[in-house]
Amino acid sequence: MRIITSLRQMKVASARFRAAGQTIGLVPTMGYLHQGHLSLVRASKKTTDATVVSIFVNPTQFGPREDLAKYPRDFARDARMLRAEGADILFIPRAADMYPPGYKTYVEVHELQNKLCGRSRPIHFRGVCTVVLKLFNTVRPDKAFFGQKDAQQAIIIRRMVQDLDLDVKVEVKPIIRDADGLALSSRNAYIKPEERKAALVLTRSLKEAKMMVDQGQRKTAVLIGRIRSRLQDEPLARVDYVAVVDPEELEPLSLVKDGALIALAVFIGRTRLIDNVTVRIKAKTKAKAERKGALSLKR
Ligand code: AMP
Repeated sequence: MRIITSLRQMKVASARFRAAGQTIGLVPTMGYLHQGHLSLVRASKKTTDATVVSIFVNPTQFGPREDLAKYPRDFARDARMLRAEGADILFIPRAADMYPPGYKTYVEVHELQNKLCGRSRPIHFRGVCTVVLKLFNTVRPDKAFFGQKDAQQAIIIRRMVQDLDLDVKVEVKPIIRDADGLALSSRNAYIKPEERKAALVLTRSLKEAKMMVDQGQRKTAVLIGRIRSRLQDEPLARVDYVAVVDPEELEPLSLVKDGALIALAVFIGRTRLIDNVTVRIKAKTKAKAERKGALSLKR
């Protein structure tokens, strides 16, 4: 695995892959890797010839009072993990090269960037889109891999790619969880041992909401109410938002529909955690209808 820090060298390496007729997969990350990131690396390796993993703790997506300075970093460990996975290039651009003095250009996906996480993190998605577009321009991947863990981010990136006619296929892969259900996140490193159990309330409340949908509940106010009350029962949890939205426009739904996204952000102590589930109702309804049909045939 080659480690590249220069933008120019990354462009040259990418051009070589392309000249050799090889397809390129890009996995953009902020490092401090875990199995969630590695699942994306594996997905890339499966369907592209060369996998580039970027690690860049992107300053423009952090608000002034957020955790840029203390975001966990361990490049040596990350490199070992990526080598073991068979990544081809680890790209670690320097902040001074990505944003040289006088830098002025930003990419915004209007409206979508202001919803859900965008409410409490107003510049976040502008920073994400800007850095992802810069990474796309440098690496020029055929496919880019993102996690459903950051559902809003994936939706916004898809929209940016569509709106700006970018020639990259966006692949979104499922959330990888710890054995106890907590969604893996580099920020879980901030959670103190006594907070860990409290953090499970995110998974638990989402699971319960999903079960309510499976049992026929369609009113999002009821689902949100139940999730909020579960979260309120946990003394270490403080809700940022709980929402049920459609997965394209992120507009709140009053009744759940197939593909609806139940998303939440919750502070556990000082750590802000996010999680989500997508509800599936069509298949169930169809199965139920078929069962009903079978029953009426019997009669
Ligand atoms: P980050 O390093 O947190 O910026 O994440 C880099 C990529 O990994 C993003 O596309 C995330 O959505 C994805 N990712 C982070 N955590 C998980 C997880 N638990 N499961 C799947 N993908 C994840």
